[in-house]
Amino acid sequence: MFFSFKKKEEIKIIGGCITCGKCCRNLILISKGKPVKSLSQFEKLVKKKPFYNHFNMVSKDKEHGYIYFSCDKLGSDNFCSDYENRPDICRNFPSKNMPKYKGKLLPECGYKIIPSKSFDKILKEKMKK
Ligand code: SF4
Ligand code: SF4
Repeated sequence: MFFSFKKKEEIKIIGGCITCGKCCRNLILISKGKPVKSLSQFEKLVKKKPFYNHFNMVSKDKEHGYIYFSCDKLGSDNFCSDYENRPDICRNFPSKNMPKYKGKLLPECGYKIIPSKSFDKILKEKMKK
């Protein structure tokens, strides 16, 4: 799901995790403020953040060149098997910075990213009912 945002437009994240596990199978990693697009970038990142060694390359986005990773810490029950030690990208997911990197939430995700204005509009409409 892609959204286009004006620069500095505030966003809201609504909803919650429904433990489908799909984000742990379709990760985009950020290095120096940009999505990882090559094996060498990934290897440098692993040296700085050893936990990233649990991420495995699965595919490449044809349009943007981003590499998608899956995580071997995901259990067959779709829960993280190393929850206490999960890295910041997992702790902070979904991040409000996602639109900055043209990031997307999977359509199946229980979270949704929306512009704040839309959120306020929806809230006002709900309050009227
Ligand atoms: S994709 Fe969304 S709903 Fe599925 S596990 Fe990740 S955060 Fe939860
Ligand atoms: S560390 Fe846990 S939460 Fe993070 S990607 Fe792996 S399985 Fe998912």
